Amino acid sequence: MFAATKLATRSAFRHNWVRFSSTAAAASSYKLVVVGGGAAGLAVSSTLAQKLGKNEVAVIEPSAVHYQQPLFTFVGGGLKDFSETHRPMGELIDGNAKWIQQAAAEIDPEANTVTLADGSKVSYDYLVVAAGIELNFGGIKGLEQAIGKNGVASNYSPQYVEKTHEFLQNVQGGNALFTMPATPIKCAGAPQKIAYLADEMFREKGIRDKVNVNYYTALGKIFAIDKYANAMNGIAKSRDVNVNLFHDLVEVDGANKKATFKVLGSGPNAGETVTVPYEFLHVTPPMKPFDFIKNSKIANAAGYVDVNQATLQHNKYSNVYSLGDCSSLPTSKTAAAAAAQSHVLKQNLLNQIQGKDVPAVEYNGYTSCPLVTGKHKLVLAEFSGYTGTPHETFFFNQANEHAFSYWLTAEALPSVYWNSMVKGTWKGPSTIRKLTNPANAN
Ligand SMILES: Cc1cc2nc3c(=O)[nH]c(=O)nc-3n(C[C@H](O)[C@H](O)[C@H](O)COP(=O)(O)OP(=O)(O)OC[C@H]3O[C@@H](n4cnc5c(N)ncnc54)[C@H](O)[C@@H]3O)c2cc1C
Repeated sequence: MFAATKLATRSAFRHNWVRFSSTAAAASSYKLVVVGGGAAGLAVSSTLAQKLGKNEVAVIEPSAVHYQQPLFTFVGGGLKDFSETHRPMGELIDGNAKWIQQAAAEIDPEANTVTLADGSKVSYDYLVVAAGIELNFGGIKGLEQAIGKNGVASNYSPQYVEKTHEFLQNVQGGNALFTMPATPIKCAGAPQKIAYLADEMFREKGIRDKVNVNYYTALGKIFAIDKYANAMNGIAKSRDVNVNLFHDLVEVDGANKKATFKVLGSGPNAGETVTVPYEFLHVTPPMKPFDFIKNSKIANAAGYVDVNQATLQHNKYSNVYSLGDCSSLPTSKTAAAAAAQSHVLKQNLLNQIQGKDVPAVEYNGYTSCPLVTGKHKLVLAEFSGYTGTPHETFFFNQANEHAFSYWLTAEALPSVYWNSMVKGTWKGPSTIRKLTNPANAN
């Protein structure tokens, strides 16, 4: 899909000089610094710490806990226990790497340094930025006061994900609202997945006729890719989930249990606001790039790390790479995408470090969104975010709800995540696809 791309390189002399000179000024110096120990950061740092040897790689990560976030949907739906979603960070960072348990506060790609929250500096020869995306609960008026109480929850935060199931169980009737914001978000399918799980809970409880299930999205489509959008529109209709397009949540009045939406788009009501009472409100918060990235020289105008969409190398600073949710890569932000990206990034970065003059390995925009629609039902969307083309791993039509797709996502992939993804050995399903769907092997 891309013409063979060459990585931009810098001379070994420059790297050695930078390393030597910055060691004098900085508290510590590493061949490779990885900012972030999430899905993407661990996939990269685990492999490269093994390849580059003891204490050559540092991982800057403030959190003592790593979350397998794709499991949050199942926790909110009451299908998994919260304890399954997290592990101590120290158990996951490779033993060869140095864990710097602090937040990165500043990146200076001219000086090859990262300033930490305590003001000290770490210098690097090569930098990989994988810090994820920031949840912005404060971006909606009243939400910070309302969340976690009186029926307002969110699967997006480890702090509130258990509240989703707790509050859904309390519902006896009225409106259950599920929202999707206007900003880029991680896992763009998760805002609606929980609506279908709630629908199933209400049916099992025998109260479905007393509850209106409403999905409000700021976007003009239920899903970005037509094949899966058609499937999801059909499923929403069959479950009596009302889909309200172009409705952006702007205010939550927690005391009076009312949600206010601004109508977007160019329809007759565009620009107006609509206030809806609720018994239950699941909020997907707006999200934004972290300030320490946005305010640095490695960011693009939108605040994401400005990398080449094929090679994942920075467009200006050749010793800087990025992947995952904080990168500028124009595809859906998922762990599945990060796995495929990590495979590409690691090969390109290693080739650069080892001075190999070989064509760059290229990322094709692969991402996946497993759209859970019930306890044993799931639409397994897999596609390139660059072309909008489905890249399905299996021979059956993955736009159809399937018990196998559910089993794969709920039971198999969580252990792939713990046993392979965070250890850097999972590169996504491209190898399996050659056997299971050879007609769509690319
Ligand atoms: C409810 C929900 C459902 C999802 N469902 C799916 C799914 O079904 N399938 C799928 O593939 N994906 C899913 N995702 C998305 C997936 O979890 C993310 O896309 C993935 O985790 C991105 O990896 P990342 O490493 O870029 O970011 P993260 O995994 O978020 O990691 C970022 C890391 O950076 C650290 N960090 C933050 N600030 C700093 C700083 N200043 N300095 C240093 N470190 C910092 C954080 O502590 C964190 O550890 C879901 C996400 C959610 C919330």
